[in-house]
Amino acid sequence: MTKFISVMYHQVRRKKENFFPKLVSLKLNNFKKQINYLDKKYHIVNIDDLKDFFIKRKKFKKNLCMLTFDDGYSSHYNYVFPILKQKGLQGFFFPPSRAIENCELTDQNKAQILLASGATVYDLNEELRNLFISMKIKEKTKLDYDKLEKKFKKPYGFDNADTIFFKRMMQTILPINFKSKIFNLLIKKYVNKSQKSIAKEFYFSLTQAKLMVRGGMFFGNHCYNHLWLENQEENKQKIEILKGIKFLRKIGMKRTDWIMCYPYGSYNKTTIKILKNNDCFLGLTTINKEYNIKKDTVFEIPRIDCNNVFEY
Ligand SMILES: [Zn+2]
Repeated sequence: MTKFISVMYHQVRRKKENFFPKLVSLKLNNFKKQINYLDKKYHIVNIDDLKDFFIKRKKFKKNLCMLTFDDGYSSHYNYVFPILKQKGLQGFFFPPSRAIENCELTDQNKAQILLASGATVYDLNEELRNLFISMKIKEKTKLDYDKLEKKFKKPYGFDNADTIFFKRMMQTILPINFKSKIFNLLIKKYVNKSQKSIAKEFYFSLTQAKLMVRGGMFFGNHCYNHLWLENQEENKQKIEILKGIKFLRKIGMKRTDWIMCYPYGSYNKTTIKILKNNDCFLGLTTINKEYNIKKDTVFEIPRIDCNNVFEY
């Protein structure tokens, strides 16, 4: 039986970068090694191969590997695109469209930037606790800091408990108005740059996205705002997904047979229903394992973290 793996990449950067050197990223040299390894061992799929495999159930002689790149980082345009193009491989890119169209940082990246700034995670959580009190968040929202801490301060994936707590609070738990005020205060204090200028360096541009499409790369849906979809009502989910489709059309992708990549790997039954009603044919999660043809549905495709590539 043909084996299928999908590999999930985020930041790919040179060994030394002046721009937030502490940001978690895969080194460019390691990326090149991984691509050479995967290209030898697997057939690196393009969109037609994916349709043959998942829709027509075609059998392949070699095992299959899909290369995916989340979040629209400029390093995807600067480093990944030329390498893949030179090798004649297709990469699958999933930028949140607001970041590219409006050049605005996602909450996910704002939190990562703060964690890569001069502040320690303990400083940041201390700030958060103080702001919780001074902004009267408990009184206004009934959210209880201590209870939240108990519930969410647990290690997950590659992150320790404190980091997860800060990320969860700032990426999903706090209501949007408090979140953006806190981000503004903390970024001003700990990162000596405007959010616009950071976003400009962080993401590739709309023009660059179009160039990547013309250069043979595939773009899929990563929504507009990069939200935890499972926490959103149906209508909000729909708006997020439809805005993502609109963006794909804008950069020259087809309207049908598109691929969804759930922001934060978050989705529920409602999400899948919306995908089915809108001609999506594949949904990518962040579950770190290889695809199991008997157990995994086409809307719940797992992806291996790039740090684990050599284990496959
Ligand atoms: Zn993402």
